[in-house]
Amino acid sequence: MFADQEDYFFQDGISVKDIASHYDCPIYVYDGNIIEQQYRKLYNAFDLPRLQINYACKALTNISVLKIIKNLGAHLDTVSIQEVKLGLHAGFSNGQIMYTPNCVSLEEIRLAVELGVKINIDNLSILEQFGQEFPNYPVCIRINPHILAGGNSKISVGHIDSKFGISIHQLPHILRIVENTGLTIDGLHMHTGSDILDSGVFMQGAEIFLSIANHFPDLDYLDLGSGFKVSYKNDGIETDIEDLGKKLSTRFNEFFKSYGKVLNIIFEPGKFLVSQAGVFLAKVNVVKQTTANVFVGVDSGLNHLIRPMLYDAYHRIENISKVSGPMRIYSIVGYICETDTFGVNRKLREVNEGDILAFHNAGAYCYQMSSNYNSRYRPAEVLVYNGKHHLIRRRENFEDLISNQVEPNIF
Ligand SMILES: *Cc1c(COP(=O)(O)O)cnc(C)c1O
Repeated sequence: MFADQEDYFFQDGISVKDIASHYDCPIYVYDGNIIEQQYRKLYNAFDLPRLQINYACKALTNISVLKIIKNLGAHLDTVSIQEVKLGLHAGFSNGQIMYTPNCVSLEEIRLAVELGVKINIDNLSILEQFGQEFPNYPVCIRINPHILAGGNSKISVGHIDSKFGISIHQLPHILRIVENTGLTIDGLHMHTGSDILDSGVFMQGAEIFLSIANHFPDLDYLDLGSGFKVSYKNDGIETDIEDLGKKLSTRFNEFFKSYGKVLNIIFEPGKFLVSQAGVFLAKVNVVKQTTANVFVGVDSGLNHLIRPMLYDAYHRIENISKVSGPMRIYSIVGYICETDTFGVNRKLREVNEGDILAFHNAGAYCYQMSSNYNSRYRPAEVLVYNGKHHLIRRRENFEDLISNQVEPNIF
């Protein structure tokens, strides 16, 4: 999104205000061209004989977004059988889908076998049961390398007491199960958290990986997960992808020589591909002064965008109804009947009732975490792509609210 003297625009010149009035607020808008740019930026950062990007689709699973990602040549990382099905529906083949669940039942994993997707196993109990039932189905193992990584305690998943992955210290158990069941391990995976800024953390993870890879002679790929930090505050603080790409490429190319075989290197970005591509637009219902605050209340809340309340996520907020004029300080809140704060003491161009506010970085984990709390409708989703805009999910209505309720004839 950028502004000239009169208006705010998406990358290819479509006015943000026009989109807001055409589809009404609240609304999620995704810029497909930014998704493509981010994909290319990541892909081109590496110099590897085999490189694959698996989009971690839990960030945003709208089918049209999945199709853009597919057309780029990316594959999919999924965490539930429903995401697997959405991927198949969007046109990915089963070989292009990696299923990386955590703490799911063996039944759900059986469904993944039936669908023929790649499976990533993250605990010893399931590994053993899986090996006994499907000894001929090659699988990937999720390793927990125990490195502390990521933004805050709620999104860091690689530490010693994390529920994710099989501890690197349990390698002897893994090898015993593999030998006992005859399983083929064709991939190793790690994913240590989100918002990792330091390329040293990725390098540390890579070293740990490589130190155990020699125990698995049938590897076809190494999956390094994700965790790339994107910039939230317009300050440009994000993972230096070019620097990381160079360092990792050098290290892996060296490793392939000692391993005796070139492996596919996989990354699984969610945020990196879609976060900046999304903006959430909401209309100002009231401007309200209290003794110490000026509140801006919008026609939305944590039912549509919960990240600020859930893990103190920062979303930059801009008044797109004003391109000039004085800046003032406001606290932006939602209409949900409990504490529902999007941002405290933010500097915005003077806000009037009826103005449209844009919440940035709304592509990842925003619509996807939305709910019907307070019995409100989930918003619509719009795709801006190659100079045109398309409705890709309609706003919910009252029918949707009651459509799956059952009213027994007993009252
Ligand atoms: C959530 C998740 C990702 C994506 O993380 P981002 O921080 O959005 O890039 C990748 N891999 C796995 C296994 C995940 O659970």
